[in-house]
Amino acid sequence: MSPSVHHQVVIVGGGSAGITVAARLTGGWFNKLDVAVIEPSDKHYYQPLWTLVGAGVFDKKVTERSEASVMPKRAKWIRDAVSEFHSDENAIVTRSGQRITYDWLVVAAGIQINWNKIPGLKESIGHDGVCSNYSFEYVDSTWENIHNFKGGTALFTQPSGAVKCGGAPQKIMYLAEDAFRRAGVRDKTKVVFAAASPNIFAVDKYRVALAKIIERKQIECLFRHELIQIRPQPKEAVFKNLDSGKLVSIHYDMLHVTPPMSAPNFIAQSSLADKDGWVEVDKYTLRHTRFANVFSLGDCSNLPTSKTGAAIRKQAPVVVANLRAAMRAAPLQAKYDGYTSCPVVTGYGKLILAEFDYEKNPRETFPFDQSKERWSMYLLKKYVLPLFYWKGMLKGRT
Ligand code: FAD
Repeated sequence: MSPSVHHQVVIVGGGSAGITVAARLTGGWFNKLDVAVIEPSDKHYYQPLWTLVGAGVFDKKVTERSEASVMPKRAKWIRDAVSEFHSDENAIVTRSGQRITYDWLVVAAGIQINWNKIPGLKESIGHDGVCSNYSFEYVDSTWENIHNFKGGTALFTQPSGAVKCGGAPQKIMYLAEDAFRRAGVRDKTKVVFAAASPNIFAVDKYRVALAKIIERKQIECLFRHELIQIRPQPKEAVFKNLDSGKLVSIHYDMLHVTPPMSAPNFIAQSSLADKDGWVEVDKYTLRHTRFANVFSLGDCSNLPTSKTGAAIRKQAPVVVANLRAAMRAAPLQAKYDGYTSCPVVTGYGKLILAEFDYEKNPRETFPFDQSKERWSMYLLKKYVLPLFYWKGMLKGRT
């Protein structure tokens, strides 16, 4: 093993959360903090736009930038992946065998996508009518399928457990339904949403609104249905009914899969994990419940809210304020209230902007009823939020 290096603050992951925190920690003229970001990838993605890429609105290239271009100038980028945490020794070990010690640690390594968990998925994804918005590599296949669809059954799935942006599995379905209508194939098409969840949305206000849209669009919903296998040859998706335990096979002509996800293995196997594998933090201060010099945010944390970039926008200032307070041995006063947001695109030019907190109370930004479909909110998602992300959030400004 190569000799240890030390940094005052080490951030694990240079995605949405890691870069936002790094930018906030290194910004300002008099800032002398020594911050290192450990990130293996040389690319950074604005994933929320993959919904519109899958719907043919954008080329996927607009969602990709080099990691170097988003890395704050005063942060040191260590291009490696963490493989082990030694939290009792304030150290981590990387895949290449480097040992890095720290005074403070921020864990922001995102969520793991388990493509292998569904037999038949890995073999069929990207062809034979099977597609997914949940990867830069396959997101093109969604639009190919929607665009070339000639009628039949278009099936959309959502697994049990946490996924990135809980609304995304249904957004692409609404867009596909709209695309089929515009292409004149809607009357030959059955649109089916098969989800492990018990209903369409966790927050009452938006659930009522979305139920009306589903009725208007004549979408068939099968709740408490978990995808457990894909048989690419007969084009059959096998589901387990989570209430009766019975297996149900559905023929598809197009299948959009939201794959099962989990905490990354290297976190789940570490002393930082809770019983489900996520980094265990206090849900208000975002400080680790057992290691006082460790904080976490974003998809890899066990915060009981929907995993979104919008949530990270509110979590990052709390992590930074509390980390700075902890450095001064002062009380942690910043509190995160669980705010998250899900811009549910319900068609081309239509969007319901769901915003809510830990208690699932709406926390709306605009002075109008956000559960109504609006063109203005669609424009917000399409043009304004990406700009906010690249120029504001990742620069530590909003
Ligand atoms: P990521 O941004 O995924 O970053 C994690 C980083 O950790 C990656 O760069 C990865 O390379 C790195 N990493 C992994 N393993 C290691 C390791 N061993 N060592 C070091 N680094 C490692 N959010 C919204 O707010 N609104 C939306 O409309 C929305 N829609 C979405 C639609 C889709 C299809 C998808 C996929 C996501 C959507 N999201 C949306 C969710 C949003 O993109 C994520 O919640 C957000 O990117 C999570 O940020 P993160 O930093 O936690 O993880």
